[in-house]
Amino acid sequence: MRKIILPFIAALYVYIANAQETVNLQMMQQIKDEAKNNSQVKMIAHNLTDICGPRLTNSPGYDCALDWLTSISKNWGLVNAGREPWGEFGKGWRSNVATLALKTPYYENIIAYPKPWCKSTPKSIKASMIMLNNLDSATIDSVGPALAGKLVMIRPSNTTIPDTFEPYATRYADTALDNIPDKYMVSRKQIETFLPFIKKDYYTKLYLEKKGAAGLITSNRNSIDGTVFVDGGTAYAKGYAATLPEMKISREDYLKLMRLLDDKRNVELEMNVQNTFYDKDLTGYNFIAEIPGTDPNLKTEIVMLGGHLDSWAGGTGATDNAAGCIVAMEAVRILKALNVQPRRTIRIALWGGEEQGLYGSFGYVKKHFGDPATMQLKSEQSKISAYYNLDNGSGKIRGIYLQNNDSLRAIFKTWLEPFNDMGATGISRSNTGSTDHISFDAVGIPGFQFIQDELEYETRTHHSNMDTYDHLSFEDLQQASIIMAAFVYNTAMRDKMLPRKPLPSPERLVFDFDFPL
Ligand SMILES: [Zn+2]
Repeated sequence: MRKIILPFIAALYVYIANAQETVNLQMMQQIKDEAKNNSQVKMIAHNLTDICGPRLTNSPGYDCALDWLTSISKNWGLVNAGREPWGEFGKGWRSNVATLALKTPYYENIIAYPKPWCKSTPKSIKASMIMLNNLDSATIDSVGPALAGKLVMIRPSNTTIPDTFEPYATRYADTALDNIPDKYMVSRKQIETFLPFIKKDYYTKLYLEKKGAAGLITSNRNSIDGTVFVDGGTAYAKGYAATLPEMKISREDYLKLMRLLDDKRNVELEMNVQNTFYDKDLTGYNFIAEIPGTDPNLKTEIVMLGGHLDSWAGGTGATDNAAGCIVAMEAVRILKALNVQPRRTIRIALWGGEEQGLYGSFGYVKKHFGDPATMQLKSEQSKISAYYNLDNGSGKIRGIYLQNNDSLRAIFKTWLEPFNDMGATGISRSNTGSTDHISFDAVGIPGFQFIQDELEYETRTHHSNMDTYDHLSFEDLQQASIIMAAFVYNTAMRDKMLPRKPLPSPERLVFDFDFPL
């Protein structure tokens, strides 16, 4: 009997040990096999991007995604799947028509996208252009009645386009990973410095409309080569009037319009912007689903994973952040398909309102775990082992940021070992910010964002019209789903919860700013 049983047991439970940390290597291999043989990353991507379209928070596209995620989760056998309210977000918004063309001195189509939460034009309008040197009330006043009925542009401070000698897409060198410095971190002070500019921008646009302007044409310096970056807008919040119709256009078009106006030419545009606002339900929702824990002593503890589900509206939010949702959904699908019996409960959360200020995850954390402003913690805060986030584009996982928690280095090193040959070797001590794990970190819960290859995220897709399905790297997403599934599994099976940093002192979350502006 022994001779038969021993090799059997040895095959079932092959562990590697490192500083008392153990990894079930057979399970790691099963996760790899399931991800490779039955991958659903393309199917999930197609539904979230091509089918639902842009997922601006509280828009029909966002709703579509919530409904689809709920139904697919039920098909997979996840439990407690559905939307969970996190507080008041505000109005939804959708673009129905958005066209802009040069009519005089000749016809030309202009690459243009409406700014979210701007007003509609009264049907299609044809109007002359005027250029203001600055967008402020003094400049608006100095123009006087000449503004009436005009489409306005603002003189750009830089009149050349950036060169493109550097490649759009990059990957990290293996040697760079451990030393990645703090990334995407924003301080409370920076936010407070920035808020007056958002406020001024909002009220100046209201003033511009009051003085008779028909619409506003704007552009970013890096909106070149057919890529247009379009985000922002504050009029989602309850009680905020929408600003005038505004279109973001390509830089090349913008600079041409400037040169024509500087040459005293009559420039006429035809603009048709038709949007719908949705204000019946101002509540914001996250998506939640679970694989229940099975250990009688540990099943009330949880391990969470996710990313934000909402997007901007110029593209279909493929890399920002359908990518993170695809990976997190695929990770739980893999674990469910393998019929793992996790000791702790595994909970996926896909957040709303991230793009406006981490609202969905922050609302969830306040509701379940505590408010960083007071550090009054709820009992659930002591029951969550970790939250793993993905929101840095479509690039594969190259390692993890420790968020300064050195006690996790040896643990994560062991967990990454089975995936070293897939490029995931890095452990950076640094902090990374500007996404949803920050809401967890702020109340003392171990919250992490993985190190991801950048690909063309910063240069092409982040908040642009090119953030679409075809800019996803499916090989990278598949690799990421394997590692996310592994980290979640290991966290759920470990004897103890992950070690924590000392509790932070009470401080408002960096994105917790006051409305009304
Ligand atoms: Zn994002």
